[in-house]
Amino acid sequence: MNLKESIRVIEGFPKEGISFKDITTLIGDGETFKQSVDAFVEYLKDKKIDVIVGPEARGFIFGVPVAYAMGLGFVPVRKPGKLPAETIRMNYALEYGTDSLEIHKDAIKKGQRVAIIDDLLATGGTIEAVAKLVEEAGGEVVTLGFTIELTELNGRDKLKKYDVMSLVEYD
Ligand code: 5GP
Repeated sequence: MNLKESIRVIEGFPKEGISFKDITTLIGDGETFKQSVDAFVEYLKDKKIDVIVGPEARGFIFGVPVAYAMGLGFVPVRKPGKLPAETIRMNYALEYGTDSLEIHKDAIKKGQRVAIIDDLLATGGTIEAVAKLVEEAGGEVVTLGFTIELTELNGRDKLKKYDVMSLVEYD
């Protein structure tokens, strides 16, 4: 099966007007899950990446196997109050209101080359906050990788200074 066919699209979730891209069908199939992880690894293999970073929860699903396959460490970015040691926090805008994400202050060594992986790029607000956390922690953001990109929302405009890649596009 190809990757796009393996993604289930659910209209009206979580609310009216939203066409939700459900990755549980992609990761539930061994072939397409492996295909997606392998595609990230292939893209990143010559970029001298030191560590993989991913935001909860779906960023873990793809980021962790990529880190494992490349023999690299994985650094989680989490909602406030979840990480036990000293953290750096970043606030970011949502469609309505704001949200926050945190990273452990000592999770990245100064100058480490980082690839950030998440399941989906929409407006880019989430990943921009993650990239800022990585930079504040001392890392260099090399690549932002997504399983899915919603191109119509122009998330890439916000992320011009980064290398952005995605495996499947919807417009
Ligand atoms: P952004 O901050 O780029 O607007 O939104 C991206 C975040 O929202 C991602 O972390 C992603 O998990 C979540 N998200 C938004 N829409 C969808 C969707 O249709 N499917 C999935 N799987 N995640 C979504």
